[in-house]
Amino acid sequence: MDLKQLIRDIPDFPEPGVVFKDITPVLASTEAFSQLITELADPFRDSGVTKVAGIEARGFTVAAPMAIELEAGFIPIRKPGKLPYETASEQYELEYGSDTLEIHTDAFEAGEKVLLVDDVIATGGTAAAAIKLLGDLGADVAGIAVFIELIFLGGRKALEDVPIHTILGYD
Ligand code: AMP
Repeated sequence: MDLKQLIRDIPDFPEPGVVFKDITPVLASTEAFSQLITELADPFRDSGVTKVAGIEARGFTVAAPMAIELEAGFIPIRKPGKLPYETASEQYELEYGSDTLEIHTDAFEAGEKVLLVDDVIATGGTAAAAIKLLGDLGADVAGIAVFIELIFLGGRKALEDVPIHTILGYD
């Protein structure tokens, strides 16, 4: 099935000038959701990934089933103050201001193979910060699997050293 037909463009959400890619119609269809997870997991089936890290919050919806699909554990990467145990954090710049991501310091053992999963790559800043967090804790980063890439924003430039697998791209 053509997943692109199920992506809903929402203009000016959450702020003027942004065209938000709403993936909820994909998540709501058993067939589409299952196709997405199969296709996103395919390049990593024999990669020895033992943990899948997902970025709050929409990223969790894709990362958690990916973990099951790859017979790996799931790791949440969250906004500040949400994770209850000891955390490592990484601050990154946004167009206006900055944001921070956190991960539990015991989320995985140093040397474990970790796959990062998110719903959308836009500027790549969020994924780059997540990759930095994983690397600082000693992960062997297998790659990044993302449903949608907003190619025109050039996010790959921020992620040059990491293999990126995407399903849909928008020029
Ligand atoms: P960025 O750091 O610019 O790559 O932004 C990526 C994060 O913001 C992802 O976690 C997405 O969930 C979200 N995001 C950015 N732009 C969009 C968009 N146009 N539609 C949906 N989500 C977006």
